[in-house]
Amino acid sequence: MIIEIEKGFDETVVQIQEMVKSRDCRPDVLLGDLYTVIAVEGDATQLDAQYIETLPGVVRTWRISSPYKTISRRVVGDNHQKVVRERRSVNVPGPDGKIRRFCDGNFVFIAGPCAIESREQMEGISGQLSILADRYGIRDRLMLRGGAYKPRTRPWDFRGLGSEGLDIIERIRDRFGFPVVTEAMAVDQIESIGRKADMIQIGTRNFQNFNLLEAAGQSGKPILYKRGISAELEEWLSAAEYIALQGNKDVVLCERGVKSTTHGDYNRSHIDLDVILAIRNRTILPVVVDPSHSSGFAELVPYQFCAASVYPSNGAMVEVILDETERRSIRCDARQAVRMSVFEKMIRFRLDIEKIPQSFDSTE
Ligand code: PEP
Ligand code: MN
Repeated sequence: MIIEIEKGFDETVVQIQEMVKSRDCRPDVLLGDLYTVIAVEGDATQLDAQYIETLPGVVRTWRISSPYKTISRRVVGDNHQKVVRERRSVNVPGPDGKIRRFCDGNFVFIAGPCAIESREQMEGISGQLSILADRYGIRDRLMLRGGAYKPRTRPWDFRGLGSEGLDIIERIRDRFGFPVVTEAMAVDQIESIGRKADMIQIGTRNFQNFNLLEAAGQSGKPILYKRGISAELEEWLSAAEYIALQGNKDVVLCERGVKSTTHGDYNRSHIDLDVILAIRNRTILPVVVDPSHSSGFAELVPYQFCAASVYPSNGAMVEVILDETERRSIRCDARQAVRMSVFEKMIRFRLDIEKIPQSFDSTE
């Protein structure tokens, strides 16, 4: 941490030096003409920068090391040298013995309904996904989604089938062989979801539910962790650190749009595709995009999917339905679900893109 203090505030300089030493760090004081700068050596995480900035004469403070050390791409090694860590491959083994890999050079398709509403619905969708998986040779890149516990803005809306939904998805998983991801909304759901699903989703509403994040970290399962509805990148990554600190770095970040200025008149929230590059530069974690919840409209989903596809994302999660008849009957997010035929076109677009060798490395 660096602390900048105006000249003439010697008492503050002494006070900060004492504070720094009391946290087992070393204050290095540099005297300039206009400012005194204190460079803190050691683990400055225990220093309260916001409080320091309230002291008389303090102009500003800034942290040098990352607040999300465990998942950071760049770290300082033991001999103070810079270390760039390898990006991580988050592997999700399926009941069919195949591993879905969220990593550089691979793109995973996650598809399914918003909510698990019945066994027939899940069979219908999984059957169609199976056909697409074989038609395009993407079985080892396809996962199934569906919520048993649904966070709903209004309490009288359908809130999922709960444990009955988990039983359905467990049976579907065994029958079709796809690994499944489903959302945990509370700490006491983690254990049963961990037993019945292959990946645990933490949704946007729980992005700073730190107890839930820690429980997810202790589950030993890969985590699909969505961005909070108005989360700044640093807040999101710092919260991801709660999961990783439990010894679980199998975290896939999911951009799902952030609240903006449109009040839902033509989209639900704004997708932030640039965050894909920012995440790649700052962390070792893979990142996927959810164009369904970001856009909120079926007609926008394929466009956002294709755009996300040309960014270096590691996958996408899409809400699907069989056909328009199903759209009329489902109780959750009907407006944004894309028909299977549209999802098929999205797969084709993605596979076409993969044939074009591309590298836009700006340092080339
Ligand atoms: C979901 O994916 O089912 C969901 C509720 O999404 P979000 O948390 O992004 O709103
Ligand atoms: Mn949904």
